[in-house]
Amino acid sequence: MSKTERNILIDELEAKGISDQNVLKALRAIEREKFVPATMQNNAYRDIALPIGYGQTISQPYTVALMTQELKVNKGDRILEIGTGSGYQAAILYKMGAIVYSIERNFDLFRNAQKIFDNLGIRVSTKCGDGTIGWSEYSPFNAIIVTAGSPDIPESLKKQLTIGGRLVIPVGNKRTQTLKVITRTSEKEFKIESIPEFAFVPLIGREAWEKD
Ligand code: SAH
Repeated sequence: MSKTERNILIDELEAKGISDQNVLKALRAIEREKFVPATMQNNAYRDIALPIGYGQTISQPYTVALMTQELKVNKGDRILEIGTGSGYQAAILYKMGAIVYSIERNFDLFRNAQKIFDNLGIRVSTKCGDGTIGWSEYSPFNAIIVTAGSPDIPESLKKQLTIGGRLVIPVGNKRTQTLKVITRTSEKEFKIESIPEFAFVPLIGREAWEKD
């Protein structure tokens, strides 16, 4: 039942322009219903963001697909995610063969995601803390994905990219953002592309929004 629903959703994402076959394959394999609260499971295969508690959301599947496609994931890539939330995005990256590090500031969400990873046998290195400063012990990363909206591009994250590495981050005000895709082209140079228009929950931390 849910597998059929999942395949219908992924066909829709493909029709909406997601073309990276490795991304589509991972989306078909990971059960989104395992990452949402029990009361939301009926809606797991609709292309919408869903509440996961604490005022946070699991991102819309199309957004997850697009951001993952923009990361240009290769097997064995080291990828840092800021904003573990439900754990769904990290699970997709793991399924694509990446070595995944993920930081969440909310302790309950951090713990809950860890539990889901353990149950499903998904290996992700997690940490509870402020991800705006990155995770220098494990840098550099081939890609960094920020799944909450930021007022600017945190300098610390740019510094933790490999040459050729990519940072995907929604930047804007607290209500709407543009998705920035930043490629580190040399030690000091970065190329920036923008994709409008998204609505993420705020990134809160030292190099982003202050706590409300
Ligand atoms: N990738 C998640 C989306 C979660 S929503 C998923 O697949 O479900 C964004 C998350 O970012 C929220 O859980 C929020 O608590 C977290 N967050 C916000 N600011 C953060 C920060 N500075 N460091 C780490 N996590 C942060």
